[in-house]
Amino acid sequence: MSDCIFCDILSGQLPSSVVYQDDQCTAFMDIQPVNSGHLLVIPNLHAQGLADLQDELAAHIFRVAKRLSTALRSSGIKCEGVNLFLADGEAAGQEVFHVHLHVFPAIKETDLDSSFLQGIHRSRTGQS
Ligand code: AMP
Ligand code: ZN
Repeated sequence: MSDCIFCDILSGQLPSSVVYQDDQCTAFMDIQPVNSGHLLVIPNLHAQGLADLQDELAAHIFRVAKRLSTALRSSGIKCEGVNLFLADGEAAGQEVFHVHLHVFPAIKETDLDSSFLQGIHRSRTGQS
């Protein structure tokens, strides 16, 4: 085990549900999903934050997130829109310091009265 849970996922030391992998990045299901279909896209090599990524790798992660968004929309999971979210740094809410891009379905009726950031906060804290 390393001191990074996402590196442990990549090395197979922690279980995960991988939905996509190539030579640069991996996407897997979030263990505490905001809603059904919540994915994380991470670089295959450890990088703490956005500044630690080469521009081309950052662009590739976004490219993969775009493809996954299309897959979510046609998957049968309730998905009226898609949110992409990246917390870069502790002040931004980053809890796992291996950079990751959240990709998750948006559902109109559950998000009507709030921004998606408030929705994320509520889902994590359990506040209503
Ligand atoms: P962040 O606050 O942006 O750093 O988000 C970290 C995300 O990692 C959260 O949504 C967690 O639910 C997710 N997470 C933490 N541990 C695991 C794990 N073992 N497998 C999958 N997702 C995880
Ligand atoms: Zn790592």
